Amino acid sequence: MNEMTARGVAGVAVDLEPYWMPFSHNRYFKRHPERRLIARAEGAYYWTVEGERLFDCLSGLWCVGHGHAHPRIGAAIERQFRTVDYSPAFQMGYPETFRLAARIAALAPPGLDHVFFVNSGSEAVDTALKIALAYHRMKGEASRIRLIGRERGYHGVGFGGISVGGMVANRKLYPAAQLAGVDHLPHTHNPAQMAFSRGMPKWGAHLADELARLVALHDASTIAAVIVEPMQGSAGVIVPPVGYLERLRELCTRHGILLVFDEVITGFGRMGAAFGAERFGVVPDMITFAKTVNNGAIPLGGVIVRKDIYQAFMTGPAHAVEFFHGYTYSGHPMAVAAAHATLDLVEEEGTFARVRELEPVLEDAIHSLKGEPGVLDIRNCGLAAAVDLEPIAGEPGLRALKVFEHALRRGQLVRFTGDTIAVGPPFVSTPHELAKMADDLRAAIRAAR
Ligand code: PLP
Repeated sequence: MNEMTARGVAGVAVDLEPYWMPFSHNRYFKRHPERRLIARAEGAYYWTVEGERLFDCLSGLWCVGHGHAHPRIGAAIERQFRTVDYSPAFQMGYPETFRLAARIAALAPPGLDHVFFVNSGSEAVDTALKIALAYHRMKGEASRIRLIGRERGYHGVGFGGISVGGMVANRKLYPAAQLAGVDHLPHTHNPAQMAFSRGMPKWGAHLADELARLVALHDASTIAAVIVEPMQGSAGVIVPPVGYLERLRELCTRHGILLVFDEVITGFGRMGAAFGAERFGVVPDMITFAKTVNNGAIPLGGVIVRKDIYQAFMTGPAHAVEFFHGYTYSGHPMAVAAAHATLDLVEEEGTFARVRELEPVLEDAIHSLKGEPGVLDIRNCGLAAAVDLEPIAGEPGLRALKVFEHALRRGQLVRFTGDTIAVGPPFVSTPHELAKMADDLRAAIRAAR
């Protein structure tokens, strides 16, 4: 077996070369696939093809909060396949999709009561940006063409998402292909002011006033929407400063700018509430969601909008299409069935309360890593946390990779990006598992020195 082949599930040899892995170091992975090929998943654990058990510290990619292979979700998907496997998304409807829209609207903040379904977070973001631009135009304010994102923001990989996103690696190859007229707020992470904050940092609300500066620069009449993650997940759990989101809300309201919360990570439980909007007490005009809505079982995302935004589109002859947008798999019956089963679990098991109970356990566990070699900062909010590590001189990203590999040897699958380690454990984790995760991470950090 050469370095590009590996033993797959049930020992079948797999050629690793043809698959171009997303957001991955393909060459390194294909040379070192040990402990990185998954054979089975159940509850809060994966098993590798070598038969080793890994605690799923990031709930997949922030999506499998309720644990893997949940029998309720599996049964719903199987039943759905036998009932209606697929039905056309355009000009036809499947009743369960309508019922899901109503359930999601009921969970959303008051006033956000219409749902447009898509298949991913990236599609949700691009859909929300299109709705924002079209909405102003429908309302006779066609000059509102600017979109404001935020540094270090992650809004997926569509051209809209990378334009408002603030991660240079995702943007730099496509300068000419990005949306025109986009500007960015500063990010809110300032270690000098807030290192090792537990929960929301006290410093930084004033950074929202940068929106006032952008309004003064561009004029409100040119700005359609501001999009932010209430808590920046992919950048490494950057938690909003106390009062920051409120100020953004005030400024958007004052200037007629739509505020979009990208809740692809924060929606459906991760914050100990249905949405970050509820957790942080700030109501946006639109929410994008995906991931945990159906426990990552089948791709599903969406945009929740205020009634008057929906109503603004409902003009022209009743027989005409109102919004020329949608996907073949919008509101896919299988994904919808998985979402209903997931929301049943949320209701029956009191998931949000469980996350709130676990939050201080995770907070204590993760902050116990303060003082370990090379740990520069630790942040947490809801059931999410991140640890910044001092980079190895001249080799950014290598320290976190080493920690990741040492953690794997200890049975922990953490997420690493740059020199940050992130965790977002399953809602079904036990306090013991969270403590063990932090202890194993401590050992990995020490070993990676
Ligand atoms: N928006 C946010 C806030 C995300 O965290 C992500 C993915 O992590 C996305 C959008 C993109 O979602 P997807 O990968 O499903 O396209």
